[in-house]
Amino acid sequence: MNAIPVIDGHNDTLLNLHLPRRSKGRSFFERSKVGHIDLPRAREGHLGGGFFACFAPNRKTDGRAEESATIFSESGYEVAGAPPVDPSYARALADMLASRLSRLETESGSRLKIVGTAGEIETCLQEGKIAAILHFEGAENLGKDPGRLQESYEKGLRSLGLVWSRPNAYAHGVPFKFPSSPDTGPGLTEAGKSLVRECNRLGVLVDLSHLNERGFWDVARITEAPLVATHSNVHALCPASRNLTDEQLDAVRGSDGMVGVNFAVAFLREDGCESEDTPLETVVRHVDYLVERVGIDRVGFGSDFDGAKVPKGIGDVSGLPNLLAALREAGYNEAELRKLAHENWIRVLRATWQG
Ligand SMILES: [Zn+2]
Repeated sequence: MNAIPVIDGHNDTLLNLHLPRRSKGRSFFERSKVGHIDLPRAREGHLGGGFFACFAPNRKTDGRAEESATIFSESGYEVAGAPPVDPSYARALADMLASRLSRLETESGSRLKIVGTAGEIETCLQEGKIAAILHFEGAENLGKDPGRLQESYEKGLRSLGLVWSRPNAYAHGVPFKFPSSPDTGPGLTEAGKSLVRECNRLGVLVDLSHLNERGFWDVARITEAPLVATHSNVHALCPASRNLTDEQLDAVRGSDGMVGVNFAVAFLREDGCESEDTPLETVVRHVDYLVERVGIDRVGFGSDFDGAKVPKGIGDVSGLPNLLAALREAGYNEAELRKLAHENWIRVLRATWQG
């Protein structure tokens, strides 16, 4: 049986490599025990490609990334809402991370390629190269002018989350909270609505993960593209603010969009607990629910590798075959596994990018 390559909806590998505290000096090109993705482990796990996020974390005044305070209660947790970040800081970091991805492409000796069309992804899969999709997680780096999107598009940007879990000039992200509805605040600003139209014009994917529910419905009303949450799970199975309600899932289905299943244990487990001791069946349960609700053609993966704790049974990117094996065990046939692993992402990206 040939290994099935996986296109993955979300990783934080660029930031993980960038921050010394997280990378601990690892290189993308050498096998490491640190983090989740490097080239040797990606090839072992048959990673066909993925969304490489450029994300600017909140920082302390000394410039170090800030860990937000979490308040635990008997029933769950709440992370103090992250304040907005300065657009020029976000811009500088996004530029740095995007050029890091270009450097990885150059240094990879044709083993990784930044892609801009669905056809290029297919070629990468055929040639065994990793297809890297440039993604901004949060639009604050555009400043207040949606018109700046074009500049980023010309530099290779193909996917944009309007927000991370904090507010900016365009929208409001959900604070991390469990249990909590994703309806945590106001919808898109006028600039946010213009930005969605600009994404449509250029063919940039609008990522709904991290967006609050009112923002989600604003995008649903405005956009001409399929609705996509690159790394979110099922709210009915894990009532975290980051997950999607049944009504949101129905809208994803109606738009022929898709959901990338997030491997972050906090968004998988029904108790919201951040324990890597989480069985693979928990991931399978979310896939099953999504397949039932939105259809086998509208579900994929959005690992959150290098940005979250994932189940031990996956461990890192080299463990992707374990997940496919668990899904096979649960009754998915090879044609269905290919859809989940990469075909659905290629379909949605072709529809969104119009190429
Ligand atoms: Zn994220």
